[in-house]
Amino acid sequence: MDTTWPPPLPAPRLGPPTPTIEADRSDRRRAWLARLAVLSLAAMSIALDLGTLVVVPLLFVVVVPFEKMFPRHRQPIRRPGVRTDIAHALAAPALGVVSAVLAIAIGLASLAWVPGLLLRPLVTMLPTSVMPFVGIALFDMAIYWVHRWSHEVPFLWKFHSVHHSTEHLDWVSGFRNHPFDGAIVAPPFVLLVAAGFDATFTGALAVIQLALGLFLHANVRWRLRPLHRIVVTPEFHHWHHANEADAHNSNYSVFLPIWDMLFGSYFMPRGRRPERYGISESMPMSLVGQLHHPVRGVGNPLRILGRVLRHPWRCARAAARFTRGICADIWRSTTTRRARTT
Ligand SMILES: [Zn+2]
Ligand SMILES: [Zn+2]
Repeated sequence: MDTTWPPPLPAPRLGPPTPTIEADRSDRRRAWLARLAVLSLAAMSIALDLGTLVVVPLLFVVVVPFEKMFPRHRQPIRRPGVRTDIAHALAAPALGVVSAVLAIAIGLASLAWVPGLLLRPLVTMLPTSVMPFVGIALFDMAIYWVHRWSHEVPFLWKFHSVHHSTEHLDWVSGFRNHPFDGAIVAPPFVLLVAAGFDATFTGALAVIQLALGLFLHANVRWRLRPLHRIVVTPEFHHWHHANEADAHNSNYSVFLPIWDMLFGSYFMPRGRRPERYGISESMPMSLVGQLHHPVRGVGNPLRILGRVLRHPWRCARAAARFTRGICADIWRSTTTRRARTT
């Protein structure tokens, strides 16, 4: 036993290292590069779709007055993170091209066309007048499951957490999305087209859900209680974004809340309203940082390609292990019983 008296003084605690001039310069260079990337994405978006110049100001003019007249939370228009969300909105068409390319790969690899082809004989027997209703229900249920897996499969959550990282919901926060997360609607789309539904009809459903999604994030206090069990409302989606323990993993539906009621993830408590939004893990604040966040640590793609060419069998085995892990997570999310019908 150490009986030295007085006891030795604790070692001095070192503070964070003082930033050197080089580190400061490299931070500034990185910030400039990030700004240049955002400007390039916005320019590409405008070149792809002139509507980009109209949509963002139009949403501001239409939605913000309602947010000021009927605010759910008192927050300034220039709230933290609004610049990032506007950058996401301006870059959306350019990032949409990346999403479309990823969607083709995901759609084919997901094998969603297999159940689609199995359903096809039944779908062709449907009367024409009934077909749109069945199409909406099938697409909406498929999106429910994809959204649920995006939360409960750790690999998919890396991408979807970008959307949930905003701590303030309003007219522009719905634009915050990773392109991979946007591409994840491909399997439901492929399922419907393989089942015999018109591709234009299915595409229109996806666009309607996207537009409705923007409205669901608005900072308006309307509860719209009579609609709660019929169609999703801002109250429903705000609970989905709530960073409150008992609200986690709930309200996945994007159009009809019946799926949450059927599969035990419906959460609409009476006499309470969502207070806090966001995620518990850290997320970069910039658009470029958020696009890179889910794939950080993966390494240089050219080096990965080199490794695949040098060791194809070892890489194939690693890919098979990774796919098995994803399937196991999907199975767990699908079969774990829950019974929330609040
Ligand atoms: Zn979500
Ligand atoms: Zn959302």
